[in-house]
Amino acid sequence: MFQQMFKILMGRADENTKAPSLDSLLNSMDRHSDHLTTFVSPSPESKPRTPFDTDLPAREVGLANLKGRQRLQAISKAVPLMLNMQIASRMYDRPFVPTYNQASTEMIDRLEQMAHAAGAKDIRYVKVPPNAIFQGKKIPYSYAIVFTVEMDKEPIDTSPSWDSQHEVMRGYKNMAVIGNKLARFLRRNGFAAYPGTALGGVTDYVHLAELAGLGAIGYHGLLISPDEGARLRINTIYTNIENLPIQTENEHLWVRDFCAMCHKCVRKCPVSAIYEQPKPRGDGGMQCIDHVSCREYFTKNYGCAICLAVCPFSQVGYDKVKERFKGNPNAPQFHIPVDAIE
Ligand code: SF4
Ligand code: SF4
Repeated sequence: MFQQMFKILMGRADENTKAPSLDSLLNSMDRHSDHLTTFVSPSPESKPRTPFDTDLPAREVGLANLKGRQRLQAISKAVPLMLNMQIASRMYDRPFVPTYNQASTEMIDRLEQMAHAAGAKDIRYVKVPPNAIFQGKKIPYSYAIVFTVEMDKEPIDTSPSWDSQHEVMRGYKNMAVIGNKLARFLRRNGFAAYPGTALGGVTDYVHLAELAGLGAIGYHGLLISPDEGARLRINTIYTNIENLPIQTENEHLWVRDFCAMCHKCVRKCPVSAIYEQPKPRGDGGMQCIDHVSCREYFTKNYGCAICLAVCPFSQVGYDKVKERFKGNPNAPQFHIPVDAIE
């Protein structure tokens, strides 16, 4: 996988080079959790993780066509991202024996200060419902810290482009670094902490972020938050801290009333992969995108991100959209039931 990835990034993919399987890499990282002696399992309604792989030959992958400086940029993000994902997955190899399961307010304050200083935009907490754990996966504890990192507007506005994909890679790299840093901090202070994988993950991060009150899921299937609109990435840390300041109210669900009028991402998607109206799923989440339709365009075109870029929340910001939105009483609602969390 790493050899194939290196060949692609260096522009050396030929007709015999297979596209690297990101799904295989992520599955191999997930298998570190087999060392856990106690864990939380998914529910029968849980969905499988959305696959990343396509049948495209390696030369058709957007990353295979980078120029010299772009290749260096890609390597400067891909290497620390992969290294930090490996470090995170190895934290599951030897389960940590915690000293405490209750954190003081001061401890949570220190955690949040550290998260912000490291580059996290927002941080919240959730009790993970088993239906948000992907089929066949497991997590060490049902409590999770959920945090976001912002992606800059200027490069995202150029989507689909290398500049945009580079910004997305920067976001993933930062999430991986921050997740490991916060997990080490908690462990040093006697709490169990296991970083989620920055890319992929074994839980539905968007679903968890909405449950945690960080924002609301838009029709493009991405989280829309007050700070960055949809220009964000999400990661988690699973922990044994039982008294996390979990918020059960979500003041952002009006966003989907706006979506029901807007549909801009639906219109702008070049392969019509976004549903006119999301479909509620058995696992409590909602299906917004036909991933099979999205995946090939996404892989060929630098991770696409058109839906993210054109969203009014990314363009003019949450506050302006809210100020101008007078409500849509006919909007169908697809709220993930926050009060379903035990
Ligand atoms: S582009 Fe419009 S419909 Fe799509 S997620 Fe953003 S606000 Fe909702
Ligand atoms: S990433 Fe691109 S192809 Fe995929 S849903 Fe968004 S706009 Fe459509």
